Amino acid sequence: MTKPLPGRIEVITGPMFSGKSEELIRRLKRARIARQRVACFKPDIDLRYHRTAIASHSSQTHEAETVSTTEHLKSSLFPQLDEVEVVGIDEVQFFDEAIIALAVELVHLGKRIIIAGLDTTFTAEPFGPVPALMAIADEVTKLSAVCMTCGAPAIHTQRLGASQELVVVGAAGLYEARCRAHFHPWLDENSSEQLEFPEASRIL
Ligand code: ADP
Ligand code: MG
Repeated sequence: MTKPLPGRIEVITGPMFSGKSEELIRRLKRARIARQRVACFKPDIDLRYHRTAIASHSSQTHEAETVSTTEHLKSSLFPQLDEVEVVGIDEVQFFDEAIIALAVELVHLGKRIIIAGLDTTFTAEPFGPVPALMAIADEVTKLSAVCMTCGAPAIHTQRLGASQELVVVGAAGLYEARCRAHFHPWLDENSSEQLEFPEASRIL
């Protein structure tokens, strides 16, 4: 048996609202235009909008299967693996560490793996398996959002309101993108509307 050509690991990362899901959906749609067979997964912690699709904040969607663990993802993917050329994963920060070994296994089988996820938590700590995935990737795309305080490029996800849980997903108005200057690793009770915008005219 001839060894398959190596595949490719692509990581799309950045804070919330930076367009990670949009970019993942764009790449998966282009792969399908090129008649490549695509399988897409997301963790069941993220049930925003849909169980059977990934969705962006701009309402773009792509069919996806919801799985609870890496093992669950494998048990769904492996029976169809011969047919699949491109594997997409959204919200990868919520997967267990085994997702890293799976990415390595898939790339050695010649698959293109496109992975989107948050690089940092709302306290600016590296998030779950994402740093390791960035390290082993062929290509890392680090996107920025727009700071909701001043309009500058934002690399942070600011948690608003009272919850101390690490994982609070999909609750509207709970997070916003912030630049370094306006990010507070503690909770910010102020919504952007309540803040002064002294820098806005300078930066925009
Ligand atoms: P991510 O997956 O990184 O959270 P999405 O792809 O779901 O991002 O959404 C990106 C879209 O979110 C943008 O195209 C824009 O329409 C919208 N959006 C809302 N708030 C912001 C913001 N602060 N900065 C940039 N885009 C924003
Ligand atoms: Mg997203």
